[in-house]
Amino acid sequence: MSLRTCLLATSTLAIAAPALADVNIYTTRQPELIQPVMDAFTAETGIAVNLAFVDDGLVERLKAEGTRSPADLVMTVDIANLKQIVDADVVQPVESDVLNTAIPAALRDTDNQWFGLTTRARVVYASRDRVADGELTTYEDLADDKWEGRICTRSGLHNYNLALVSAMIAHLGEDGAKDWAAGVKDNLARKPEGNDRAQVKAIWAGECDISLGNTYYMGKMLGNEEQTEWANAVRLVFPEFEDGGSHVNVSGIALTHAAPNKEEALQLMEFLVSPAAQSIYAELNFEYPVLDGAPLSELVESWGPVTADTTDLTEIAGHRAAALRIMEEVDFDG
Ligand code: FE
Repeated sequence: MSLRTCLLATSTLAIAAPALADVNIYTTRQPELIQPVMDAFTAETGIAVNLAFVDDGLVERLKAEGTRSPADLVMTVDIANLKQIVDADVVQPVESDVLNTAIPAALRDTDNQWFGLTTRARVVYASRDRVADGELTTYEDLADDKWEGRICTRSGLHNYNLALVSAMIAHLGEDGAKDWAAGVKDNLARKPEGNDRAQVKAIWAGECDISLGNTYYMGKMLGNEEQTEWANAVRLVFPEFEDGGSHVNVSGIALTHAAPNKEEALQLMEFLVSPAAQSIYAELNFEYPVLDGAPLSELVESWGPVTADTTDLTEIAGHRAAALRIMEEVDFDG
C-alpha cells in the first residue's frame, strides 16, 4: 500500500468508527482543580469531558432540565449536598463492583446513589505559640472550661459544622450533643463569622487559640501569598471522638437520572477510583483518596496519619435535622 492509500484508509476508518460521546459534568468544585484528572481520563479513553461549574442552584437546575438535562454526572462536596440530590430524585443508583470495592462502605450511599471520591477531615487549627502539644485530643474536650474564650469558628449552621454535630449525635445522642454544642458556644472567643480560613487568620491575629477547620484549607492557605503567614501560625491537630476517630466528610459523584451518555459516564466514575486518578484528584485538592493505599500528596502526608471515624455518612446525614435544631436551640451563632 502506498503511503497515500494508507493515510486515506486510516482516515476512512476514523470516520466509520462509532463516535465516543462526551461526558458532561455539573460541578460545584472549581473546574481548574478537577480538569487535570479529567484530562488523564481523556488521554486514556479518548472520551472528552465537559465541565460546567454550577455555583448555586444545582438541584433546581437538574429538576428544571428533567430528562432533557445534558448532564451525566454531578460532582459536589459535603454529605448534605449529596443527600440533597438524592432526596430531590435527580440522580440514579449505580451498580458497580469497581466502585463498591474501591470505596469504603461508610463513604458511599447505602442505596448506591452517591459515591465518595475524596475525604477531608474536620479538625482543629491550633496556635503554634499558645497551644501545647497534646493539649487537645478529643472533640468532646472542646466543650471544656479550659478553652473558655479561646475558640473561633464559622457559623454553627454551616454544613461543615452541622455534619460535625450530626456525628456528635451519633456518638453521644441528641442530649449529649446539645450539651456539647452549648459548651463549645460558651468557649467561643467571638461570635461565629467568616469562613474556615478567617478563623485561622484570627488565631494569627491573636483573637483566639484554636479553630475548627477542614484539613485542605491548610494547603490552600499555603498556596496563597497573603494567607501563608496565617497557615504558619498554626498546626493541624486531629481530635478524635472519645469512642471513635476523626470526623471526615467527602467530595462525591452521582449519575443523573437523565445521563444521556451513561456508559461513558460509568467509565469515568470507575476511572476516578483507580489508583492514579485517586492520587491526582486528592493531591489537587489537598484531600485524602478514598482508595486504600493510594499515595497522599507530600503535604497531606506531612500532617501525619488520620484515624477516620467509621460512622456511616448516611447515618450522619440522617441526623442533620436534629443537628440544625440543636444549634438553633443553643443559639450557637447568637
Ligand atoms: Fe470548603
